[in-house]
Amino acid sequence: MTAPSPAVPSSREAPPGELLVCHSCLLLKGPVPGRTDGARQFCDCTPGEVRRAQSRWGGDFNTYAELCRCCGLVLLRSGSRFSIWFCMQWLEAIKALNRSAGRSLVPIGRHSFMNGVGASAAQLRTESGARALAEQFAYLLGKERSLEGWARTIVQRNLTELGLDIEQDARLADYLDAVSGSALSPRAAFEALLSAAADRSLAKLSFKPLMPARG
Ligand SMILES: [Zn+2]
Ligand SMILES: [Zn+2]
Repeated sequence: MTAPSPAVPSSREAPPGELLVCHSCLLLKGPVPGRTDGARQFCDCTPGEVRRAQSRWGGDFNTYAELCRCCGLVLLRSGSRFSIWFCMQWLEAIKALNRSAGRSLVPIGRHSFMNGVGASAAQLRTESGARALAEQFAYLLGKERSLEGWARTIVQRNLTELGLDIEQDARLADYLDAVSGSALSPRAAFEALLSAAADRSLAKLSFKPLMPARG
């Protein structure tokens, strides 16, 4: 595995507009940049029925952008079921980790195909094939949940390191500005994620909310 450069990538794949980092669930929320039709990205604190009632404003689902699920330092476009969850700096290293493990210790995106899990017609014709497939999906789901916990933990850790008030929503633009002038390192986040994934304790790093989420 070659060592990627430790610098925070300077290019932002998506303008942050007036999006906020929710202090409660650590996901992004707010008006979608560049839209004048009232399209909003909802965080986990918005009740499920409100989220489900929102009409589709683009892509496969209503998410404009997300922070990298490894370092939380880079804003990535989202909304496609094939959207990648990591900044390019570490993507190849995460793929290499998964290849060496022979399965997706760290899933790279939502779609099961992106993580090497998919059903063939032949596999579904036998009971053992269907059972193996179900086991692969359950494994992948568990890893996705663990990674989601990590993604929130790292954003909360970054907010604290940057000296931002973790009891209030932060403007995403302010957060990203603070990141670019900081010593926060994607490498440190990657190494922590890597060691957690390698010793199968990713779940131990799960996000513990500071206060119960509303709704
Ligand atoms: Zn929230
Ligand atoms: Zn990253």
